[in-house]
Amino acid sequence: MEPKTGDLKNIQGLSDRDRKMIEEAEAMLGPEPEKMGSVKNMFWGNLRQDLVFPYPETSKEEGERCDSILRNLKKYLEEEHPRMQIDRDEEIPLWAIQKLFTLKIMGLNIPTEYGGQGLGVTSYNRALEMIGSYCASTAVVVSAHQSIGCKSLVLFGTEAQKKKWLPRLANEMLSAFCLSEPNVGCDAGGQETKCHLSEDGQYYILNGEKKWSTSGALSGMFTVMSKQVFTDAKTGKTHEAVTALICTPDIAGVEIYQKNRSKCGIRGTWQARIRFKNAKIPKENLLHKEGKGLQVALTCLNYGRCTLSAGMLGSARTCMDASIKWGQTRYQFKRPLADFELVQMKIARMAAYTYAIDAVLYMTTGFLDRHDSDIMVETAVCKVFASEMGWRVINDAMQIMGGEGYMTEVEIERAFRDARIYLIVEGANEVMQSFIFSYGGKQLAESMLGIQAALLWNSKETLGGNISRMLKHGLNFPILKRALTLGAEVFLGIKPSAPILTGLHASLSPWASRYAGLVQEHSYNFKKISYQIQEKIVTRGAYHARIADMAMWLHAMACVLSKLDRQFKTGAIGPEWERDRTAAFYFLEMGELEFRLAMQSLYNNTDDSMLEANKAALAYSNTLAHANYILPERSPVATGLGKSAKQELTKQFPGVTV
Ligand SMILES: Cc1cc2nc3c(=O)[nH]c(=O)nc-3n(C[C@H](O)[C@H](O)[C@H](O)COP(=O)(O)OP(=O)(O)OC[C@H]3O[C@@H](n4cnc5c(N)ncnc54)[C@H](O)[C@@H]3O)c2cc1C
Repeated sequence: MEPKTGDLKNIQGLSDRDRKMIEEAEAMLGPEPEKMGSVKNMFWGNLRQDLVFPYPETSKEEGERCDSILRNLKKYLEEEHPRMQIDRDEEIPLWAIQKLFTLKIMGLNIPTEYGGQGLGVTSYNRALEMIGSYCASTAVVVSAHQSIGCKSLVLFGTEAQKKKWLPRLANEMLSAFCLSEPNVGCDAGGQETKCHLSEDGQYYILNGEKKWSTSGALSGMFTVMSKQVFTDAKTGKTHEAVTALICTPDIAGVEIYQKNRSKCGIRGTWQARIRFKNAKIPKENLLHKEGKGLQVALTCLNYGRCTLSAGMLGSARTCMDASIKWGQTRYQFKRPLADFELVQMKIARMAAYTYAIDAVLYMTTGFLDRHDSDIMVETAVCKVFASEMGWRVINDAMQIMGGEGYMTEVEIERAFRDARIYLIVEGANEVMQSFIFSYGGKQLAESMLGIQAALLWNSKETLGGNISRMLKHGLNFPILKRALTLGAEVFLGIKPSAPILTGLHASLSPWASRYAGLVQEHSYNFKKISYQIQEKIVTRGAYHARIADMAMWLHAMACVLSKLDRQFKTGAIGPEWERDRTAAFYFLEMGELEFRLAMQSLYNNTDDSMLEANKAALAYSNTLAHANYILPERSPVATGLGKSAKQELTKQFPGVTV
């Protein structure tokens, strides 16, 4: 392997001058990608084969323990769980939640020393997939409890906090997570809830309001994010940062004033609105460190994004199986529906997407089980991919079922309503696309900017300043080397050689070079378009989405290749494998096509007319009266447990009173 700047610095016998030069280059250009995750490396044109191959597996012992829990879970879900009633009554009965505790599902991911099952992320997601295949409401409640509620304690709690809370959370008590607020949705950093330490230093005084806390009204504890002001002792300057606090509903000043609102889908879940009025939160309830709450929230979201994907996968499989059976047995034009090519296309597509969601999900949970350090882009890709492709599967399934699929007594109708939320929560997909683009390509973009700052003409600098800077950095070998490689690629189209993918099963060998070529294209086109449109790229969401989609298809293809490779090598057989094998090859072809379409649309797109049409639509909207578009806020009436609608709590348009 060619030495990178990081390696160069450590070469024995380097002179002080050379070492300084390398350090300068590192400061200017940022780190080399060796330590980054697999998707970030694709931006650099590298393939981290060591991270993605072989396909991750759990230990035999853990697999067997998980299987045993899942057997009991399946029996319960099949024979007792009231999934249709849950949707109809907008409530999961308490006995059903208690049953999940009894079946040990609520503490799967909590270490055994704190009363949980101590299973890994993969096993836990297998359970979520199974629950999702029966009841999305239940999957969301289990996920909110464990992935974000308990996980914050498992990862960031002190020993005393873990001992106090985790045994109860594993066995009897639900937990919730409070990040969203009336004015805080996608922009999680904009928290308006505030906290400050009391004068005696014993409490955090908490004020503000939280919205949409899943199971908030049913939980014994919830993690609350709030802004705290910090003053720099030296400069006296202040800044705000998010602090995470453990709250309980019995604390004076904590008011759960709305238990739930009626929803399109996952109707059995309850989202609470919680108000904090000078609530005194004991100091020992600080989670992690002051000002580190956003780290708590974002880390927990890595887990939530997987369980969301697992729920979607389970649901997509159920809908696929039901609609294929329908397609085979429903006759029209004297033929089964499955005889028509446009139905066949949907059947194959459902199988391909479902296989790929599975491959991406359990690759991601494998990363988490392995404690890989750089996985935020991968969990974001997993969430966007699973929610988008799962949604496509369920949509196709409903289309195959025709009018029957639209009937409320058919499960696909419920799954269709339930699945829609996955594209919105745990990071709306558009925000995730921008994140994948910016965070995935961040270090590379910074490196490119570093080169530009070091070697290109700057009109704001003097002639002398420009010349001396360019000479100084031009004589720095590591900077020059990266600049020459980049310059040759961006200006002359001379791409560095494609990465190499080795050791694949013989049946996959044609894909090794084909795939590596796409990684090379990804990196080349990211650099080329970034250079072409320069700083405009920062605000151009359409480009973010295209580049994120390219990365998403590429990563999904890598996961599919890895899973296929393992299955070939372990000698999979039978009709299920035949379905999966052909579906996976179909996916690889589709993935390549989708990748190329996204790539071409970087240069050939309809953005200009799109932006014009958007502008006109906004101008027309300005002619419509605000008063006609007020959102009513409603609580469920079916159970009689929700509170009556409180219009005054809904933010209205300025100047409009209800
Ligand atoms: C059923 C349900 C359960 C929930 N559970 C919880 C919970 O347990 N705890 C909790 O804290 N929160 C929870 N939430 C809140 C959830 O996380 C938010 O709904 C989500 O973050 C999106 O915020 P928002 O709905 O306010 O959308 P907004 O932020 O208002 O965004 C609306 C839409 O605008 C677009 N958009 C926004 N920003 C951008 C951007 N930068 N670029 C491009 N497009 C953009 C997206 O399409 C987005 O869908 C839940 C919500 C629901 C509906």
